[in-house]
Amino acid sequence: MRIAVLIKQVPATDKVKMDEKTGTMIRSEMESELNPLDMYAVEEAVRIKERLGKKVYITVISMGPSQAVEAIKDAISMGCDDGYLLSDRQFAGADTFATAYTLSAAIRKIRRFELVFTGERATDGETGQVGPSVAAQLDIPVVTYVSCVEKITDDTIRVQRLIEGGHETIEVSLPALLSVVKEINEPRIPNLAGKMKAKSTTVLTLTADQIGVSLDKTGLSGSPTRVVKMFYPKLSRDGRIVKARDVDTVVDELIEFMRKRKLI
Ligand SMILES: Cc1cc2nc3c(=O)[nH]c(=O)nc-3n(C[C@H](O)[C@H](O)[C@H](O)COP(=O)(O)OP(=O)(O)OC[C@H]3O[C@@H](n4cnc5c(N)ncnc54)[C@H](O)[C@@H]3O)c2cc1C
Repeated sequence: MRIAVLIKQVPATDKVKMDEKTGTMIRSEMESELNPLDMYAVEEAVRIKERLGKKVYITVISMGPSQAVEAIKDAISMGCDDGYLLSDRQFAGADTFATAYTLSAAIRKIRRFELVFTGERATDGETGQVGPSVAAQLDIPVVTYVSCVEKITDDTIRVQRLIEGGHETIEVSLPALLSVVKEINEPRIPNLAGKMKAKSTTVLTLTADQIGVSLDKTGLSGSPTRVVKMFYPKLSRDGRIVKARDVDTVVDELIEFMRKRKLI
């Protein structure tokens, strides 16, 4: 069984700088890390490999600048087998559609994967769109919010997914894409052997030409969405203190306050 894990390198800070002209993130001045939520996807793939044995091979794929190799190596140190970085000036400024298009074209190019894992969302873009969009472009089933992998056969996978107030069990045919949530596992800390393996593994870089993507669907020029305005939300704390001796009066005043503002 071949598993692909899609990972993104994200800024290791919440003080993200934006280019106000292009609406894109200035990544070169920031420290970066493997998207914390992608570690759960990596861990689950590695657990499947441990459960099923050597017949499972895990490939990490990321689209990003050259320094994203570090994030791929972090995933390899956790137990993945190899990694590909999709990197080309043409990919810069991609929105979620262009990102998913490029990732799915690379997946097709690299090999057939029975399973594709993604994190729930990237901590910078935070749309959660890339996983389902990759699945749509590959025309394979997708299960989001996966919180437990119950059973895998050669042709199917049964998982639990988180829903409001509970879980539901879903079985889908393979190949399929799963986006996982934090509840699924506890990501391991890489051991020395893992770190040594990551150090000695060469991450292959694929360009637009090598993947064979249409340039009008990649990068900024191939992105149907644009950031048109950026602003910091104004936070105002116009608090009102309700002073009363008994609880009933306080509750009545609070209800009245919310009613007036049509909050209830
Ligand atoms: C309306 C809009 C316009 C945008 N315009 C621009 C723009 O003009 N220029 C620009 O630079 N950015 C732009 N972005 C941001 C850009 O779309 C995202 O950084 C990128 O597409 C990934 O989306 P995300 O961060 O929301 O990931 P999510 O969808 O939240 O990520 C979900 C999962 O998908 C996988 N994944 C996500 N991204 C990657 C990746 N690159 N490689 C491998 N796996 C990945 C990971 O497993 C991740 O956990 C825009 C975003 C929006 C919503």
